[in-house]
Parts: sequence; C-alpha cells; structure tokens
Amino acid sequence: VTSLLTFTRTKQGQYEWIQLVGHPGTFKEGLHDGYILKELSEKERRCCELLQHDILKDFVPKYNGTVKDEEGKHYIEMEDLLSSFHEPCIMDCKIGVRTYLEEDLDKSERDPEPRTDLYEKMIAIDPTAPTEKENEEKKILKPRYMIWRENLSSSEDLGFRIEAIKKSRGLMSKEFQRIKERNEVRKHLTEFIANSIPRATQYLNRLTQLRSTCLRSKFFQTHELIGSSLLFVHDTTRALIWMIDFGKTRLLPSNIHITHSKPWVRGTHEDGYLIGLDNLILLFQEIIND
Ligand code: ATP
Ligand code: MG
Ligand code: MG
Repeated sequence: VTSLLTFTRTKQGQYEWIQLVGHPGTFKEGLHDGYILKELSEKERRCCELLQHDILKDFVPKYNGTVKDEEGKHYIEMEDLLSSFHEPCIMDCKIGVRTYLEEDLDKSERDPEPRTDLYEKMIAIDPTAPTEKENEEKKILKPRYMIWRENLSSSEDLGFRIEAIKKSRGLMSKEFQRIKERNEVRKHLTEFIANSIPRATQYLNRLTQLRSTCLRSKFFQTHELIGSSLLFVHDTTRALIWMIDFGKTRLLPSNIHITHSKPWVRGTHEDGYLIGLDNLILLFQEIIND
C-alpha cells in the first residue's frame, strides 16, 4: 500500500528523521539546520505563510519559504519538529469527520474516475469491502474510498483517527485502519504514552491550549481543515503537539461560516475539527483520571 510506506534516514549520523505517513519521496533534508523540505503545493504554502502571522503560529512548524532543487522541483522549507527531541515517540492523528473536499465530491459526480490503486488499497484492508460492480471493474471512486475509511475507523464518530505511531527505537505501526471503538482508541493512546500520567497531562494541557487558540484564530475561523493532522511528539522530558499537513485546507467562501463542531451536511463545509479535538481532550482526561 504505497501511501502508507515509510522511510527512515540518517541525517549525517546525528539522528533519524522519521516520516509516519504520506508518499515516500515527498520529504527531503532542509537547507537549514533543523528544517525539512516538503514537496510544494501552492495551497499548503499559502496556509503555512498565513499561519506564521496567526495566533496559531506556535502550534505549527516554522515556515521558511520555498526552495527549488537541482531537478527544478519546488519545496516548502519548514521546521523539523523532531529535531529538538531525543529518540522521540511520534503519533500522527488525522483530524476531522470528513477527509475529502466537497469539490472532490462534485468532481467525482461530474466526471467519475474510478481508480485501480484505491481498489487495491481497499482489498488489502478488507477483501470483502468492494461491491460486485467494483470487483468487476477492479476500480473505486475516491470519495467512496475516503468515506469507507472514515466509517471503518474512528473518524466518523470521534472526529479523528490514529494514522501511525512510532515508539522510541521501536517499530512503526500503521495498522490502525480498523480502530474505531472509543475504548480501543483509548487503549492505543495509553500505550503510546507508555501509561505515564505526567505525559498524558502534558499532552492534555497542549490540547486545551490548542483548542482555545483555535477559537480565537482568524485562520481557523476562515478555513476548512480537511485531511490535516496533529503530530504528537514526546521523549523522556517533553510532550508537544503541532498541526501539520495543510494540503487540503481551504479558505471558506466568504458567505460561509463554519462551527468546526457541527456534523457535516453537504454544502455546509463543516470539517468536524473541534469534534476531534474535543474527543482527544476527553480521552486524555479519562486516561489521567482512571
Ligand atoms: P498525506 O497527505 O498522505 O497525509 P503528506 O505528503 O501531505 O501526506 P504530511 O501528512 O504533511 O505529508 O506528513 C507526513 C509525515 O511526515 C507525518 O506523519 C510526520 O511523520 C512527518 N512530518 C510532516 N511534517 C513534519 C515536520 N514539520 N516535522 C517532522 N515531521 C514531519
Ligand atoms: Mg498527512
Ligand atoms: Mg497531505
């Protein structure tokens, strides 16, 4: 399953940079120390730039402009969130009840382009999932695949899902596609923090700060955040969380206002970002109070 591949590389023998999800080859070492390069998307670049001047700036990687490599490929240069940690544990949680854009849905209805790669991804997770027609064609429409993943995982109910976890020096796991039940999710969160109450408290504090900052943020008020993640990073001394991946974050049409917490109905642009954040907060509170 190509998009779930991962790579680990050694940066001049200093430390390993680890990419949990996304396509391999999207990231490279940055030009500056403590920075990495991510393949340029103009939409994401725009978000990174706006966020540097928003009150959310301490919750996103620092952005250092774009660069072009020898082959003419363009990248955004951003802060490597792992660089200040020692043998960190890392978790990527995709936030939101919806993981595709309304425009993708419109496009797919106007001009359906079923994909073989998505059919293959689907049967790798559950061979019984495709319909008869999909099995005949060996192809699947993107929104159908995305909605299926939301329902299979906790995205639909909890407004977030664990995409991948890497324990310090341990193995990387991406086998969370079917983690849906609240208790199961909690079990994985507890395991991720190695049952440490002080660490759960550090994460909880960061989450509540993030929530209150989101509510006051101009960026948050004017954007729909789809497919964005929270990156959890801790080592033995610190536990922090950042917002990453703004490839599918979009400026809302000027006549549309969203709450980020009402369920999505087509046309509303609601993303469920605060549903996910609130459930994460509740889960960490439960872990601490248990
Ligand atoms: P996808 O859209 O499939 O999720 P992507 O190509 O948009 O992938 P991201 O989601 O932005 O890529 O990042 C993929 C992974 O790379 C993250 O899960 C994380 O492990 C790592 N990563 C991304 N940004 C940073 C950063 N600033 N510092 C450290 N690690 C990062
Ligand atoms: Mg991502
Ligand atoms: Mg992305």
